[in-house]
Amino acid sequence: MIKVAVTGGIGSGKTTVCKIFEKQFGIPVYYADTRAKYLMNHSRPLKKQIKSLLGNEAYYRNGRLNRKHVASIVFSNKELLEKLNKLVHPAIYQDADQWFAEQSQSSIPYAIKESALLYESKGDKYVDKVIVVHCADEERIKRVMKRDGSTKKEVVNRMNKQLAQEIKIKMADYLIDNFERSLVEEQINKIHQKLISLERK
Ligand code: ATP
Repeated sequence: MIKVAVTGGIGSGKTTVCKIFEKQFGIPVYYADTRAKYLMNHSRPLKKQIKSLLGNEAYYRNGRLNRKHVASIVFSNKELLEKLNKLVHPAIYQDADQWFAEQSQSSIPYAIKESALLYESKGDKYVDKVIVVHCADEERIKRVMKRDGSTKKEVVNRMNKQLAQEIKIKMADYLIDNFERSLVEEQINKIHQKLISLERK
């Protein structure tokens, strides 16, 4: 079974693309951001490490992560953010690895990990193929503003924290240009066929 990652900048359409792989071809998808949130709330060893880095105030009494508090600390402190990432990213690699191993028990040709910060977190080392979803910056900004009700400044700030699209595009194995929804399915279909043929070799 081939391990595939889908990545791309904020609002490029990663989730939209992954949903099509799931629906159209029954390919299982691991959503790294959702899973990271889950692990930060439920993984005992990770919670312990986060508390020793950021203090007990990082969690509410009911055991849930105090996201606002954590964001406020790490937003203004790059070093702490890096340290937090060094705790969370390995936990995700390990969890995704286990998930890929479970998926390989069935007869599917490939499984997908959706990860926004794949290259930034050097997660590309742990997969066989990378699909980069991309779209013009102005369009991404418009889509995220509409989806999240964020301001342009907020979206641009988040964009600026990510690796530039052009760099991701150069590193990708496959590209999906997500400007027109109607053309996306065709591109996904082609990539699906290529992945299936690779698996057969
Ligand atoms: P994030 O990095 O913020 O998680 P993402 O890369 O997963 O974003 P999506 O959530 O899939 O991006 O897409 C962003 C928004 O743009 C969503 O509201 C989605 O419905 C919309 N969208 C995605 N693709 C298209 C398209 N081709 N045409 C119009 N709208 C689109």
